[in-house]
Amino acid sequence: MSSPSPQAEGSALSATAPTPAEDATAAIRLQLRSWPEVERYLERCRGVIVPLGSTEQHGPTGAIGTDALTAEAVALEVGRRSGVLVTPVQAFGMAEHHLGFPGTISLQPATLLAVLHDLVLSLARHGFDRIYVINGHGGNIATTRAAFAQAHASATSRGLTNAAALRCKLANWFMAPEAMALARELYGEKEGHHATPSEIAITLQLEPSLQSKQRPLPEPAPAGPIHGPEDFRRRHPDGRMGSDPYLACAEHGARFLDVAATALCRDLEQFLQEPA
Ligand SMILES: [Zn+2]
Repeated sequence: MSSPSPQAEGSALSATAPTPAEDATAAIRLQLRSWPEVERYLERCRGVIVPLGSTEQHGPTGAIGTDALTAEAVALEVGRRSGVLVTPVQAFGMAEHHLGFPGTISLQPATLLAVLHDLVLSLARHGFDRIYVINGHGGNIATTRAAFAQAHASATSRGLTNAAALRCKLANWFMAPEAMALARELYGEKEGHHATPSEIAITLQLEPSLQSKQRPLPEPAPAGPIHGPEDFRRRHPDGRMGSDPYLACAEHGARFLDVAATALCRDLEQFLQEPA
């Protein structure tokens, strides 16, 4: 089965939008669609975006929800530009190594695998066959890939009619070359590896109240191997890994959102056009 690009035929949802002035964000949020609207959407496009985050410490000044906030914001921006539906964010990820810090909520790898597997199978059952996961947390990567493998196996064993056409893709916004280049340009080595100024900048752009947490911080512990939550906190007492989030500002956040969405829109377009 092919998955025609919604852009090739205009917005996949234009037929259901009551007025041209309808809010572009509302139009692509699955949460705000009815099932007949989703059924009609599937006649035009088989693609869907799933934002995947984490709920975990982000240093002494960063929001616990950083990875979910950023993944959802990038996903909604990609959705607005492409017309592709966006599911609710999966805000809990694999954050076992951050459990030494209060506020962190982690799914074990096996739990996250099961959640993502069930998400993909639910969507595939209704005809979605291009599942595009926009991820905001490095700790989710290995498990997400495993979940995709399991979902393909289950789609086949359950006899889903579109099992052979099913494609899943993981897109880590923070690893898009343009986003990494911007982080290098703005922050150099101070980008670090966790509670990075690039992700914090996006949260400041999204939630101005977070600005009040920003303050200068001492030199962070350098990044290195970690072996579980206690070891993480011992090596990185304030939760940061080599980063200086005080360099972040809302204006940078708008730029990161733009470059990440531009890169991922291009990638999504190719993904939707890939032959089955
Ligand atoms: Zn993060």
